[in-house]
Amino acid sequence: PIHLSIWEFHHDDIELLAKKLGEGAFGEVRVGRMTTKDPKRAVGVVDVAVKMLKNASESVTRDQVEELMHEGRVMRRLDHPNVLRSYGVSVLREPLYLMSELCSNGALREYLKENYKTITLADKLNFVIGSARGVEYLHSQKLIHRDLAVRNILLSEDKTPKISDFGLAKLTDRYEMTEHCKIPVRYLAPETLELYVFTPKTDVFSFGCVIWEIYENGQQPHDGKNAQTIRAQVKKREFLKLSPSAPDSLRRYVSEKVFVADPENRCSMTGIVQCVEKVEKSGK
Ligand code: ATP
Repeated sequence: PIHLSIWEFHHDDIELLAKKLGEGAFGEVRVGRMTTKDPKRAVGVVDVAVKMLKNASESVTRDQVEELMHEGRVMRRLDHPNVLRSYGVSVLREPLYLMSELCSNGALREYLKENYKTITLADKLNFVIGSARGVEYLHSQKLIHRDLAVRNILLSEDKTPKISDFGLAKLTDRYEMTEHCKIPVRYLAPETLELYVFTPKTDVFSFGCVIWEIYENGQQPHDGKNAQTIRAQVKKREFLKLSPSAPDSLRRYVSEKVFVADPENRCSMTGIVQCVEKVEKSGK
C-alpha cells in the first residue's frame, strides 16, 4: 500500500455531500464529511469544503493541477484564525480534492451584496480588522498573497473573515512577473502596473481596495471601466476614495498611508491593523 502522510487522504476518507458551495475557475466546491487521522484532533469526523479539480478529460491543464497542489502546499504551513485552514489533499484519484475549513457564510463579496441592508458599521469594521490580521500574519510568514479582494475572503459560521485563494501566493519578499500573465488590474498598486513587481507593500495597496469594497457593500473597484482606463487613472495617481460611511480616521489613514504611489511611504499591514484597532476602541 502507498504510505500517506497526515496531509494526504484517500477519496474514501471523504464523503461528498449534496450541497454545492460554489464554482471556481477549475471545478466546483462541495461540502464533504471527512474522517481525519490526526491523533491531535479530538473529533474524527469533520465537515469540510472540498475543492474538486475537474477530470483530466474535461480539459484540466497541467498548470491547473500544479496550481491546486501549490495552493495546498502554501495553505498547509499556515495557522491563523483569519486564514482559511486547509485539512489536506486527496490526489491518488481524479477528480483531485483539496479540503479546507468550511465557511458556511460563503464569500464576503456575496455576503455584502446580499445583506447590505442589515450589516452594521461594527460588522464592517470586524471584517476589516479580521481580514487585516489575516494578511498581516501572511506577511509575517513571508507570503505575498497577490490576489486580495472581497471575492477571496470567506466568512465562517460566526462571520469571522478568512483570507483564502492562495493560487497566486508566493513565498518571497519580492516577485517579478513576466508581462504576459493575467493580473487583477483593478486592485493593483502603481508599481505592479508599471514594473510588474509584487511585494508585501503591493498587497497593502490591494488591501486598501478590500476596505473600499467593504464600505461599498461588495461593489467592484472601478466598475465598468476597462483595463486601459484604470491604468491611465493610476498613472495620473488618481486612487479610490473610501465611502463617506467609513470612519473618518480610517478614511484619512487609507488616503494618506495606503493609496500612496511610493511604496516606501506606504504603511505595512501592521499599520492598518493598528489603525482599525484604534477606531474600534474609540468608536470613530
Ligand atoms: P476564482 O475563479 O475566483 O479564482 P477559484 O477557482 O479559486 O475561484 P474558489 O474561489 O476557491 O475557486 O471557490 C469558488 C467559490 O466556492 C467561492 O467563491 C465560495 O463561494 C465557495 N467556497 C470556496 N471555498 C469555500 C469554503 N472553504 N467554504 C465555503 N465556501 C467556499
